[in-house]
Amino acid sequence: MRKALVCGAGGFIGSHMVKRIKKEGFWVRGVDLKFPEFGETDADDFIKGDLRDPYVCRQAVDRRFDEVYQFAADMGGAGYVFTGENDAEIMHNSGLINLNILDTCRNRNIKRVFYSSSACIYPEYNQMDPDNPNCEESSAYPANPDSDYGWEKLFSERLYLAYCRNFGMEVRIARYHNIFGPEGTWSGGKEKAPAAMCRKVAMAEDGAEIEIWGDGKQTRSFLYIDECLEGTLKLTRSAWTGPVNIGSDEMVTINQLADMAMEAAGKTLQKKYISGPLGVRGRNSDNRLIHEKLGWRPQKPLMDGMAKTYRWIENQVKSNA
Ligand code: NAD
Repeated sequence: MRKALVCGAGGFIGSHMVKRIKKEGFWVRGVDLKFPEFGETDADDFIKGDLRDPYVCRQAVDRRFDEVYQFAADMGGAGYVFTGENDAEIMHNSGLINLNILDTCRNRNIKRVFYSSSACIYPEYNQMDPDNPNCEESSAYPANPDSDYGWEKLFSERLYLAYCRNFGMEVRIARYHNIFGPEGTWSGGKEKAPAAMCRKVAMAEDGAEIEIWGDGKQTRSFLYIDECLEGTLKLTRSAWTGPVNIGSDEMVTINQLADMAMEAAGKTLQKKYISGPLGVRGRNSDNRLIHEKLGWRPQKPLMDGMAKTYRWIENQVKSNA
């Protein structure tokens, strides 16, 4: 029986990945500080532990796994990552997790390790124009991410690549661009824009106002979780290391994202612009390389995913009222 380890299995992408590879017939162990928030884990075995601790890593990696997925990180949406207040924690926590888990895998002679990097590694100077951001993979250097979260991701990419070069590991690296969907954080400050927008719309009476950070003209793209998992599995099982973007290239403004949430809800709301942490001005996934190397790229329209996510968040809002 094939075996997989999912680090960060209590989080959004990790818990969905556990479900997905269980369906493929894997024996799956999950590790996380916490169990999944919105449902039972599907993992055969779940270690509730801190991957900053090398002892926990050794416990988790007590056998040869065919595939290891590393999603554990100290992260959140713009309200957590871009204020500057959490930089030291983010770098310390995520840095230690990656250093520990990768070295433990090497000691166990595990080859295939997937690492989830981020579009936040791309230099700020290429993302000033909201209509024309450059996120081609090769544009990562000379490096100048706009957050320490991005710098840690870049450091860890290099760490995984060095283990690949020096120790013969078969690491696979994706740079995710804003993944969203049901069972993701939707309140509390660590939620991302699609979930925040769905929550604001779900909580507002028809005709009322919702708050938007900035002028709403900043652009982004958002990828639905199912397509993220598909790309991740294709990359992990390919013969190619990456790093490669896994994201949608359907770029929208935050205003358009808000409109989609309203459309899903059947509500018309006014937008009130307030100051808030914004991140870069524009960002979009460049999918030429993934298509060239894997013959695949995400294709589903954003509105499909927004409709599914809206319905789930609306239910959460109702059941928490
Ligand atoms: P998430 O916050 O839902 O999941 C991360 C999980 O890691 C959490 O469950 C958390 O408890 C766990 N974790 C944190 N510190 C830990 C520790 N010391 N020991 C054990 N577990 C620990 O985030 P997500 O959205 O599922 O993202 C997964 C990965 O993908 C992260 O590495 C993230 O940086 C990367 N990524 C995500 C996105 C996105 O849009 N979701 C975009 C770019 C990159």
